[in-house]
Amino acid sequence: MHVLPLDPPMTACTYCGCDVTAHDPVYVEEVEDGDRIPAGQFCNYGCLAAHIETEGLTEGTTCRI
Ligand SMILES: [Zn+2]
Repeated sequence: MHVLPLDPPMTACTYCGCDVTAHDPVYVEEVEDGDRIPAGQFCNYGCLAAHIETEGLTEGTTCRI
């Protein structure tokens, strides 16, 4: 018998937990030691923007002063 995982599904939005594949998904990756690693997945840019806002991810980050 198939056992359901306790963790949220792999397709759950990092911000709201919805199934991103049901929307217009956006995926974020970061680079660590030269490797691209998943840093989040979102229903759309709206969830990504809200996540960035909530987590304050853009604070102190800019590629150009
Ligand atoms: Zn979402």
